[in-house]
Amino acid sequence: MPAPLKVVIVGGGTSGWMSAAALVAGLPPGLCEVRLVESDEIGIVGVGEATLPQIKDFNDHIGVDEADFMRQTQATFKLGIEFVDWGFKGSSYIHPFGVHGKPLGGVPFYQYWAKARLNGRVDDLGDYSLPIVASRQNRFAFPSTDEDGLSSNFAYAYHFDAHLYARFLRGFAEARGLRRTEGRIVDVTLKPEDGHIASIRLESGEVIAGDLFIDCSGFRSLLMGQALGVGYEDWTPWLPCDRAYAVPCERAGALTPYTRSTAREAGWQWRIPLQHRTGNGYVYSSRFISDDEAAATLLANLDGEAQGDPRPLRFQAGRRETSWSRNCIAIGLASGFLEPLESTSIYLIQVAITNLLKLLPGRAIDPALVSEFNRLIDVEYGRVRDFLILHYHLNGRDDAPLWRYCREMPVPDSLTSRMALFEHRGHIAKYKDGLFQPPSWLAVFVGQGLLPAGYDPLVDNVPQEHILRELDQFRADVAQTVEAMRDHGGFVADFCAAPANRPLSSRVAS
Ligand SMILES: Cc1cc2nc3c(=O)[nH]c(=O)nc-3n(C[C@H](O)[C@H](O)[C@H](O)COP(=O)(O)OP(=O)(O)OC[C@H]3O[C@@H](n4cnc5c(N)ncnc54)[C@H](O)[C@@H]3O)c2cc1C
Repeated sequence: MPAPLKVVIVGGGTSGWMSAAALVAGLPPGLCEVRLVESDEIGIVGVGEATLPQIKDFNDHIGVDEADFMRQTQATFKLGIEFVDWGFKGSSYIHPFGVHGKPLGGVPFYQYWAKARLNGRVDDLGDYSLPIVASRQNRFAFPSTDEDGLSSNFAYAYHFDAHLYARFLRGFAEARGLRRTEGRIVDVTLKPEDGHIASIRLESGEVIAGDLFIDCSGFRSLLMGQALGVGYEDWTPWLPCDRAYAVPCERAGALTPYTRSTAREAGWQWRIPLQHRTGNGYVYSSRFISDDEAAATLLANLDGEAQGDPRPLRFQAGRRETSWSRNCIAIGLASGFLEPLESTSIYLIQVAITNLLKLLPGRAIDPALVSEFNRLIDVEYGRVRDFLILHYHLNGRDDAPLWRYCREMPVPDSLTSRMALFEHRGHIAKYKDGLFQPPSWLAVFVGQGLLPAGYDPLVDNVPQEHILRELDQFRADVAQTVEAMRDHGGFVADFCAAPANRPLSSRVAS
């Protein structure tokens, strides 16, 4: 049997520990020897608290027990994201993890809704979505396994404490043989013959050699950016927010099963309910507001008392030109960052890991694996980018320069054509790869005020009275099903209540 492939993971944030856990749990024993290096002194970003439903697949795949994971990370359930004041001041809509209605005659349900609306019926598309109605009433239940039923047509994600998730995955990976080394990396040596990474050197003098290096070093991008010199594509012209303040506060009121994003003068504020506290942050563009004003705005808009001073974070929207170069693969912030508006960063970590496991090289790296990995990651970043830009571009606010800038900025052609197709007659093309699928686009298009001028002509095959009956029936079914769901706070308390007064990690990125 050949000697195991030596894999060195640089960084122990969410991306480092997710990579480590997946490698040790997902590969046959003896194939790889995995080692992780992290610096306690540098710490982690640790503000990734809201996720997408795919995280459940990740946890299930590596064999994590859901209730145990939720208890240990102070987690709550998430059915979607509420966007407040985005379309215009005073507006609100929810992007749910699920569909609106059910197809009729092979045509998406919302096409019937669009026709009824054009004929004068005024109602809220959200009333036809179970996760939206459940969110509005703070209710939760697991999706049923009945494939065709209303209560199986949604998914859920989690809100969790990112420091605790990293700690949880560390325990998981170390229990399965992962070797962790604490220390600051001060040097990287490249092989003269091909420029591949040969080794890293720690402050202690220890040299760690490897066959494959996974760069999870965060915004520093120690290997991919610094050592290999891979450039960065700047997407700030489309996504102008470049800073954030984050601060947790005491919990107040009911435990909501959704993230809230409230548009503010120069960006937006997140609210993420955990069991032991509420996470908050103001993501803003430094071109349109000062740091002091941003921090004051955040502190003035909390549910409960702030737990400490707001922590500043700086970033640049965009990504590395490639995520895999030579014998190095960048995952997480080392490979790029798109702001957290749709909770996509941990998802992007997860797809990079999944693709790495599928395309894992041997000691000699086949260029076909590299280009396929880079193609897949490229698609994912592009999809997320367009969806995020949509939220900014499609705003009807006229009260602040950021919002005027975003409405008038040129956007990628791929987004322009999607908007035009929807506006014409509600058509939303389904992606073969990547996020986000038609139900997500629908929620944001309609939520931010883009309504179709026409509808799919096939809708006319169904008599209008029948359409109206179906709409009424479906809305009533949703209301009745939600009525039977449990209060989210009670559900969490019974299923996964965390031990009281768990001390929080105080590690903070320098
Ligand atoms: C404002 C903001 C809000 C966010 N909200 C969300 C969200 O709601 N949902 C979501 O999915 N994502 C969110 N994210 C993204 C999320 O925080 C990151 O994707 C996630 O934390 C992954 O970070 P990372 O592991 O790549 O990097 P980091 O957490 O920065 O970890 C880097 C690691 O590298 C190590 N390291 C660096 N340099 C060295 C060195 N020289 N020697 C040794 N070790 C080193 C550090 O010690 C650390 O362990 C948010 C990000 C920001 C900025």
